[in-house]
Amino acid sequence: VGIVGAGQLARMTLEAASALGVEATVLAARRSDAAALVCPRVVHGSPDDADALAELARRCDVLTFDHEQVDPGLLVPLLAGVAVRPEPAALGLSVDKAHCRRTLRDAGIPQPVFSVLDGADPLEQADAFAAGVGWPVVLKAATGGYDGKGVWIVDGRAEAAEVIEHAGALGVTLLVEAYIDIDAELAVQVARTPTGDQVAWPVVRTVQHDGVCREVLVPAGLPAEVTTEAEEIAGRVAHVVGASGVLAVELFWGGGRVTVNEIATRPHNSGHWTIEGASCSQFENHLRGVLGLPLGETTLRAPCVASVNVFGGADGTDPADRLADALSVPGAHVHLYGKAARPGRKLGHVTVLGTDPGAVRALAWEAAGLLGTAAPYGAIAEAT
Ligand code: ADP
Repeated sequence: VGIVGAGQLARMTLEAASALGVEATVLAARRSDAAALVCPRVVHGSPDDADALAELARRCDVLTFDHEQVDPGLLVPLLAGVAVRPEPAALGLSVDKAHCRRTLRDAGIPQPVFSVLDGADPLEQADAFAAGVGWPVVLKAATGGYDGKGVWIVDGRAEAAEVIEHAGALGVTLLVEAYIDIDAELAVQVARTPTGDQVAWPVVRTVQHDGVCREVLVPAGLPAEVTTEAEEIAGRVAHVVGASGVLAVELFWGGGRVTVNEIATRPHNSGHWTIEGASCSQFENHLRGVLGLPLGETTLRAPCVASVNVFGGADGTDPADRLADALSVPGAHVHLYGKAARPGRKLGHVTVLGTDPGAVRALAWEAAGLLGTAAPYGAIAEAT
């Protein structure tokens, strides 16, 4: 398997590849990339370098991805010599939010009301849209955004004008969405083979702060009908997208509806808990899916799982220096990605399994706190 990109997702996929005896090669833009540090087979180059992609393809049977900052057009010429999974058309949906929204709308998948601002006067278009759904509205960059970068909640024409001017200068297409009054953000991971077998892990609750996922909680603590609806929608999305390997479907529960926020055609932060928390992890099932192998079971290994992300602290402290402290927390599964510590950079995560939702969450936060990550919002009991 060749993996385009060498971040933490590739690094965790390599662990699963090692267990299965699958030989993996990563395409790394930098020698310090999280997966490049632990993989003996590395092609050095940028994901938009056609020659580097061709070299990676030459070395493997199946090409897959650590991120979606890839031009699907560059992959098409490779199809003669290698299986690209997910296929370029499916990958294209997670590259371009406007294309994704339109495709899911045409398939009848519930989403926030949206409009793509590709007309002659995007500001007029946004203003007319807001007149229909009411301010605030959400402006999103169709391409290139991540972790809330490229998402702006704007409360009036003047604020919208600023974002639209900024995006116009960068040549980025925007879409506008109705603002959802969110009760909970959810995610479902689905694993799928090229022939359409698919399995899904239980729906999880993701807790975001400033557009960044801080923690993932299982079970999601939702009414049974919301759980069923989220899992049913995610299954349909995987089919519509034609995913191979893991597809992450991020959803909103709000305004009395479950709607799709966005998708990622790869393993995702909202599924890291599966490494210890499920019979088969998202990383192993991604490999199984892209290789067309039988998919593993997605059942929980404990009634409750909490996974908390570790970020670089404002004081520049490296969590790796505090590993001993975190490992003293009973049941804390600590993952550090080997990335250089910088304030606010996602550097790892901690997962705890147990029987009580409050207890697993408190232990995961305790370990994350010892690694230098404090909860960014008041008492952590709030979200449970
Ligand atoms: P990214 O691709 O950067 O992760 P998202 O589309 O997931 O961006 O948006 C980031 C966050 O912005 C979401 O987690 C959610 O909190 C908020 N958000 C996005 N879309 C909406 C919406 N339509 N209504 C309300 N909040 C939204």
